[in-house]
Amino acid sequence: MSPLALKDAQHIVLQHAVALGAESIDLLQALGRVLAQDIRSNRDHPPYAVSAMDGYAVRAADLSAVPVQMPVVADIKAGELPSIILGAGQCARIMTGAKIPDGADAVIRVEDTQASASHRVQINVSAQAGKDIRQRGENLRTGEIVLAAGSEITPGALGILAMVKCARVQVRQRPRVAILSSGDELEGLHDAFDANKIPDANSYALMAQVQALGIQPTLLGIARDDPAELRGMLALGLQHDVLLVSGGTSVGVHDFVRPTLEALGVQMHFWRVQMRPGHPAAFGTTASGKVFCLPGNPVASMVSFEQLVAPALRRMMGHARLYRRTLPARLTQSLPHRAGNLEFVRVVLGRDEQGYLATPTGSQSSGVLLSMARADGLLVVPNKSEGLAAGDSATVQLLDGTAFQEYSGIEEQ
Ligand code: AMP
Ligand code: MG
Repeated sequence: MSPLALKDAQHIVLQHAVALGAESIDLLQALGRVLAQDIRSNRDHPPYAVSAMDGYAVRAADLSAVPVQMPVVADIKAGELPSIILGAGQCARIMTGAKIPDGADAVIRVEDTQASASHRVQINVSAQAGKDIRQRGENLRTGEIVLAAGSEITPGALGILAMVKCARVQVRQRPRVAILSSGDELEGLHDAFDANKIPDANSYALMAQVQALGIQPTLLGIARDDPAELRGMLALGLQHDVLLVSGGTSVGVHDFVRPTLEALGVQMHFWRVQMRPGHPAAFGTTASGKVFCLPGNPVASMVSFEQLVAPALRRMMGHARLYRRTLPARLTQSLPHRAGNLEFVRVVLGRDEQGYLATPTGSQSSGVLLSMARADGLLVVPNKSEGLAAGDSATVQLLDGTAFQEYSGIEEQ
């Protein structure tokens, strides 16, 4: 099978990734989850017209000539239900969030008044009816869908769920993900230091990528390049919804992962993708699970996760937004490229008056994990490109952490 274009590989993966079932969870645990039910409001909010300001409730028609002195006939606090009916020429002191008394149709802010004799106030400005009043149901209306199934529970959405008293909420389940590293040369995090070994980075970098999506994966550890050991650990991994195996997936004589998976009944759908790093990525399914074979080189493993695994996990969690946000940036230096593969260059982002600037993070060898550790994003060099020049614009796919920046970016005037 010839290598697939990335979009075709993504298409195959997503065909096999469907949203999981629903589960009921506590609201306190719901941040970042995806709603499996429409949420309707169980109340009008505010429940009645309330004041948007600390000030005086008035009848707008009484303010045709200002300033005007008025008797203050009541003092209304938030949470109180006033029994008075405001008569012509009268006003009531009112606090933010307090119920507008019958008869009143506007609020004058305290800053636009002057206290005079006791129980009297001077109103300095006139107002249109409705001024500084929040109408009943302006925020939420009884029976109305306020959050639709499929939406992500952001902090704001979580606040709405609390307002409509959803102490428990139906959300999409999260996939159970297992991670396995393979290779005789690998040294585990807690193994004795051996200068001749290669420390296992992939288990942990992949773990972190999965965690960043809101899923706690299971680490299965390291399998040696031994068919029997590999078989046992792969079989264990296949009991999960998604198994990620790194290393041992290319065409070396000790690369046993793919044949062993096939012997275990996994149907492989592709095993090479036209992208660099990440060329040897492969994907297979069983009746109940999915397995991604990721390249051993740490950068390649992480980049293939971003392109192939993350969209699948997001879909399984019920998200509609599957892909990382992209933005255009101009290169600060030239980038050589050989036509034939889509390439993901690790970059840091800066900014000038014209927009974002992208600078490669040093050596782009797929074994140099620091290139990824320092990156804000992955700059996309298209298949056909013969190289990019300094100043050329390219698409950058943002990585985790890039929702924050060093400067506020807000121009107040
Ligand atoms: P492989 O895909 O098994 O041929 O491995 C390719 C390269 O990635 C080799 O240099 C491996 O030592 C390295 N590698 C494989 N697995 C890991 C891992 N879990 N952590 C760090 N490096 C790895
Ligand atoms: Mg290997």
